[in-house]
Amino acid sequence: MKIDLHKLTIQKAHEALKKGEYTSVQLTQAYLEQIKNKNPEINAYLKVFADAIDQAKQADTKIKNLKFNIENFPLLGIPCGIKDNILIQGHITSASSKILENYRATYDATVISKLKKEGVVFLGHTNMDEFAMGGSTENSAFGVTKNPYDTTRVAGGSSGGSAATVAMDAAVFSLGTDTGGSIRQPASFCGVVGLKPTYGAVSRYGAIAMGSSLDQIGPISQTVSDCEVVFNAIRGKDIHDGTTIDITTYASKHVSKTLGAKPVIGVPRHFLKEGIDTAVIDAFDSAIASFKQKGYEIKDIQLPNISYSLLVYYIIMPAEVSSNMARFDGVKYGLHKDGANGIQDYFETRRAGLGREVIRRILLGTYVLSSGYYDAYYNRANAVRAMIIADFQKAFSSVDLIVTPTAPSPAFKIGEKSNDPISMYLEDIFTVTANITGMPALSIPCMVGENDNKHLPIGLQLTARHGDEATLFAVGKDFLGE
Ligand code: GLN
Repeated sequence: MKIDLHKLTIQKAHEALKKGEYTSVQLTQAYLEQIKNKNPEINAYLKVFADAIDQAKQADTKIKNLKFNIENFPLLGIPCGIKDNILIQGHITSASSKILENYRATYDATVISKLKKEGVVFLGHTNMDEFAMGGSTENSAFGVTKNPYDTTRVAGGSSGGSAATVAMDAAVFSLGTDTGGSIRQPASFCGVVGLKPTYGAVSRYGAIAMGSSLDQIGPISQTVSDCEVVFNAIRGKDIHDGTTIDITTYASKHVSKTLGAKPVIGVPRHFLKEGIDTAVIDAFDSAIASFKQKGYEIKDIQLPNISYSLLVYYIIMPAEVSSNMARFDGVKYGLHKDGANGIQDYFETRRAGLGREVIRRILLGTYVLSSGYYDAYYNRANAVRAMIIADFQKAFSSVDLIVTPTAPSPAFKIGEKSNDPISMYLEDIFTVTANITGMPALSIPCMVGENDNKHLPIGLQLTARHGDEATLFAVGKDFLGE
């Protein structure tokens, strides 16, 4: 039989597996075939796992086992892609870097152990910007990922491979990581849904660290409902990550909804003035019009310090990057190059193993943390971070959601920004605030791509209070219809 993979959702595949319309092995075979056809051009997967069919066989055995209640396992037998910075035991996990090209993970990330318990099928590791530093997947040591809607354009980044696998129907869902927008911006560019959870909602154990106070793992999928299913499977407190929280109790303690039948939506119009593509503004305005039509109250809000958020991010993030990257010294993991002595080994290894953008951020981060500059840059950025958080908290006393575009432009051309770091960094203008504040944010398509260059996908970003993913899902489903 031929399985229709086009925009296949977790919910539809789950129903079909339950009814026995096809098996997980057949579904996995169909995806492997799709990867074979599409991946040579798109380059979304770095590796496809040889044991995918074996994993699917195990899922089929569980499905057949009558004692097993499939209703409680919505992800059983569902094939997915995993970003290459999330460890899967026994598999090479390179973070798209030469320095880890041959590094085989010795343990599972917590999200992977959780998904294994659910019985998902891991199809492979997906391409990304090296160590998640970038917004286009052009910084991968293993080639760019092309946008499935228009292959002259980028898929976004850094989780470009994960977003493209879903957009090209080569996985039902995927996992990405998001430090400053890396789930939401590629989701926006590829016309799919992406969630950056509340900081601490999902364990970071086993995700290769970029900026530890900003990083979160989250799902990319076709629908908001699918995002919710995956989020529920991966979230939770974890003894291996001291920053994790139990968001079910957290949410009930902290969320006090404004009164009213529907959540109130806030729009920071003052922040939507410059440097935004007209196609994005048009799509955004029609999304707001459709919220109004559905009976939502829309309020203009002020976020006085939001214009500093990109500056704050590009100080705090490289500071954290520079300390996290110190562990890649050619001794403990991956590549080793010999120099004249121990110190030279270290230099040679890092010179050969790390790409330009990673080196740029290590230099920047080391500078802002160095004595004499620490107070002027790092401490000041942290003070402004606190002011931005206070702005958002104040805004959330009168609205339940804050809505902006996800990115200032649709997918740009491959090569267009790769030699201009500042214009690449400006792509993160709307996404970094959720990482700075730790609040959850969801990107949903508000302009659907039509594969004709004129209608590239465009994403709408919804941000909610800490721990209030529930409102993101409810409003996201109401908007998209699924
Ligand atoms: N584009 C942003 C950056 O380059 C975001 C990266 C991320 O979220 N991993 O820092």
